[in-house]
Amino acid sequence: MSTHGEYDCIVIGAGVQGSFTAYQLATRNQKTLLLEQFILPHSRGSSHGQTRIIRKAYEQDFYTHMMEECYELWAQLEREAGVKLYRQTGLLVMGPEDSQSYQQIKDTLQKNKVPMAILNRDNFCQHIPNVNLAVGDGAVVDITAGVLYADRALKTVQFEKLGGVIRDNEKVTDIKPGPVVTVATSAAVYRAKSLVITAGPWANRLLAHTGLQLPLKVVKINVCYWKEKVPGSYDVKQRFPCVLVTESKESKDHIYGLPSNEYPGLMKICHHMGSETDPDQRDKQTDRSDIDILQRCIARCFPGLVPEPAVVESCMYTLTPDHHFVLDRHPAHSNIVLGAGFSGHGFKFGPIIGKLLCELTLGEVPSYDLSPFRIRRFLDKTKSAL
Ligand SMILES: Cc1cc2nc3c(=O)[nH]c(=O)nc-3n(C[C@H](O)[C@H](O)[C@H](O)COP(=O)(O)OP(=O)(O)OC[C@H]3O[C@@H](n4cnc5c(N)ncnc54)[C@H](O)[C@@H]3O)c2cc1C
Repeated sequence: MSTHGEYDCIVIGAGVQGSFTAYQLATRNQKTLLLEQFILPHSRGSSHGQTRIIRKAYEQDFYTHMMEECYELWAQLEREAGVKLYRQTGLLVMGPEDSQSYQQIKDTLQKNKVPMAILNRDNFCQHIPNVNLAVGDGAVVDITAGVLYADRALKTVQFEKLGGVIRDNEKVTDIKPGPVVTVATSAAVYRAKSLVITAGPWANRLLAHTGLQLPLKVVKINVCYWKEKVPGSYDVKQRFPCVLVTESKESKDHIYGLPSNEYPGLMKICHHMGSETDPDQRDKQTDRSDIDILQRCIARCFPGLVPEPAVVESCMYTLTPDHHFVLDRHPAHSNIVLGAGFSGHGFKFGPIIGKLLCELTLGEVPSYDLSPFRIRRFLDKTKSAL
C-alpha cells in the first residue's frame, strides 16, 4: 500500500474529542489528518444525538474549574460560527440531603461561587412543577447549566476550513510507533511526527498496536424518551430544567434528564450506567435492566410522564474505574497522546479536551493540572506489555 502523506499530526477518531483536538491543532498551524472508520456523520460511537447536558455542578472542583473556561470556548465557537449551540435551562440536582454525592455537588457549587439556588420543600413545587421531591431529599439548581446541541456542535467544528484533512470511511488497522509514527488504514498508509488516539469505545483496540491496554469498560446505554401526559409539562420552552438524581432509591448510579426538546412531547431520561458490550456488537446487547430502574424512578419522581419509554435509542460509554478521563502521553512513546475513558460525561468538555490534547501533542505545559487524568493512576493494575 502506498504512503499517502506526511503530517505533523494524525488524530484517530472523529467523535467530539478527536474533532476538537484536530481543530485546535489546525489553529496552531499543524498539518493535521483526522481519520474516522465510519462515513460521517454516524451514530455508532458516543458523540451522536441532538443534545447533551452542560453543567458546572460536579462532585470534584477540578471539573468545575475546567468548565469555567469551557463555557467561554463554547460561546466563542457559537460567535465564530454564528450558530446557537447552548440553551440555558439550569440543572436541578436532587438527592438524599445527607448523602456524599449530593453534599459534594452543593459544596462545589458554593465554594466556586457558581450561580445557584437551594430549594426547600415549601418552594420546590412552585419552581419545579410536575416533579416529586422525596422526603429526606435536598434540591439545588446549578443556574449556569443547560443543553448543548450536540449534533450541531460537531458539524460546527470544521477544521478543514483551517487546512486540515478528514478521511472518513478509513479504519485504522495498524500503528507503528517511533520518532515518526506510521498509521495504516483500510485505504492508505500515513506518517506523522505525532499521533493522538481519541477512539472512544475502540481505544483499547488501537492501543493494542502500541503495547498498552487501559482498564476501560464499554457499556451500552439505552437512551430513553418518555411521553408527557399533558403536552408541554416538561418542555424546554416552559423553562423546565435538566435534572440529575443522585443516589436515588432505584440506583446507586445517577439518573439524568433533559427537558422535552428534540422530540416534541418527549423528555429524555437515562440511567448513567449500562451493560457491558463489544463496540462492534452494540445492538446484540439487549439487557433492559436500566429501563426497569428508570420506570420505577419516573413513576416516583415524574408523575406527568408515562412510565413506559416511547423511544429507545443506543449510545455507548467508555468507563474508567474511577470515572475520570484519561488525558496523557503514552508511557513508552511520548509522541503518542491519548484521550480516552470519558465515562459518559465528556461531551461538555470537548473544547477544553481539544485544547489540552493539543498542548500535550505540542510538548507544552498543559493549562490544567492533569494528575487526576494520568495513566499512572492505574498502571499497576494495567495489563501493559511494556
Ligand atoms: C447516552 C449518552 C448521554 C450522554 N450525555 C452526556 C451529557 O449529558 N453531557 C456530557 O458532557 N457528556 C455526555 N455523554 C458523554 C459524551 O457524549 C462522550 O463522553 C463523548 O461523546 C465521547 O467522545 P469520544 O470522541 O471520546 O468518542 P466517540 O464519539 O465514540 O468517538 C470515537 C471515534 O473514533 C472512531 N474510531 C474508533 N476506532 C477507529 C479506527 N480503528 N479507525 C478510525 N476511527 C476509529 C469511532 O468510529 C468514533 O467516531 C453522553 C454519552 C451518551 C452515550
